[in-house]
Amino acid sequence: MSNYCGIIHRFFGFFMILLYNTKIWGYSDNINSVVIKEDKIFYIGELNKIPDGVYKKKINLKNKLLLPSFIDTHTHFSEYIKLKSQINFSKVNNIEQILKLINDYPKKVKGYGLNISKFNKKDLDSIFKNIKRNPLLTMASSDYHSYLTTSIGLTDWPPKLPNNKEKLNNKDIKLAITELYKMGITSIHEMAFTKEDFYLYDNIAKNLEVCRHFPLEMLDEIIKTNQKSYFGNEYLKLASLKLFYDGSIGSNTALMFNSNSGKLNLKYKDLDKIIEKALNNDISVSIHAIGDRGVDDIVNLFIKHKNNIKKFVRIEHAQTITDETIEKLETIKDKVYLSMQPLHIRDDYLTLKDMSIKDISFRFKSLKNMTIGFSSDVPVVEFNPFKAIYYAITHKLNKNEAITVKEAIDNYTINAAKLSNSDKIKGSIEIGKFANLALINDYSKYNESFWLNAKSYLTILRGRVLYIDL
Ligand SMILES: [Zn+2]
Repeated sequence: MSNYCGIIHRFFGFFMILLYNTKIWGYSDNINSVVIKEDKIFYIGELNKIPDGVYKKKINLKNKLLLPSFIDTHTHFSEYIKLKSQINFSKVNNIEQILKLINDYPKKVKGYGLNISKFNKKDLDSIFKNIKRNPLLTMASSDYHSYLTTSIGLTDWPPKLPNNKEKLNNKDIKLAITELYKMGITSIHEMAFTKEDFYLYDNIAKNLEVCRHFPLEMLDEIIKTNQKSYFGNEYLKLASLKLFYDGSIGSNTALMFNSNSGKLNLKYKDLDKIIEKALNNDISVSIHAIGDRGVDDIVNLFIKHKNNIKKFVRIEHAQTITDETIEKLETIKDKVYLSMQPLHIRDDYLTLKDMSIKDISFRFKSLKNMTIGFSSDVPVVEFNPFKAIYYAITHKLNKNEAITVKEAIDNYTINAAKLSNSDKIKGSIEIGKFANLALINDYSKYNESFWLNAKSYLTILRGRVLYIDL
């Protein structure tokens, strides 16, 4: 009998999955069913008109809302996986608590999450210089722009780290990926700090779609092996050369027009040459810029090189931006995309709320003519797209820059797909696209705070049910 079934299924070609009794993002209420055939969406319509065939699964979605699954366009997910074996300093409020944690874990070599703005930097520096410990311990500040190392003290980006290599284990990797599924995420961009982080994804077979960006140290190797940006299959795609221009608001190292606090990781002139070299070899670039002047510099460079941009380049964060810079940016809007992080509104709130730059911060609305992909920047903040949507629609720093739920979801799905050149195959619920789906409660029945506790009840990657809690 099973052979016979096998023949029948082969005859019809495939199994199908039916999702019914659902609302569907982008469709009217009478459209209540989706059929998945193999890895793609095959039918969207009414339940009584579904195509004939062999249905492997029929899932009642209980009138919840079916969304395209989320795409996080800027993560350091490899770092996040490593955190599982590091000391967590995010809850400490005083020096004694820091010292206690260091003593409690004498063998650990790394820590993370210290909110450095709560402390006097000089005190931290001298205390850490005087801690004698073997092995050394390095702790990253919560924004990853400052580092405290025993015997060495306080340094900034790039960290002068002792060579304490951590090993990743498969259990931690699996655990971390499952956490993504619970948030309805099936695709990420990895902004690899190191070659090791970049190659980590060779081993994550088909459990996640990864678009990986590489650090400067790998540029020559990528060019030599003739790799091109945004080619490759969707499970593992080469993205761009990731470069750092300025620092961060929290560490007071962003390059601003109205202060001298900026600290550059690359000089303008050097950056210019690197961009030229990359673009000449069909390698795209994505550049970290946070201060208004830093963002303006990058926009000027992209305008200079615009004729050499084959697909698109990206600005990472663009956290503060002036009207003049937005105007310039709009002249190259088909060639420059932005990756922005609404959850940084929460984390930078205390720093920014009394500063005039809050009016030019996180300008989601003013940048409406640009392509924006939302992202978390995990582990700087948690990869929770729902909370990010909440901060984008409420925008506690500047109500004028708040956007609608539709705009926020688009920035996490279809617009995000543009940032890996994948919008024709994923990012929306359409026949023929990959069946990458998430399921949430119908937000329209609740107020804005719904998003703070939202979750995915069903996460599907290419027709495979990876997570279900219905
Ligand atoms: Zn980042």
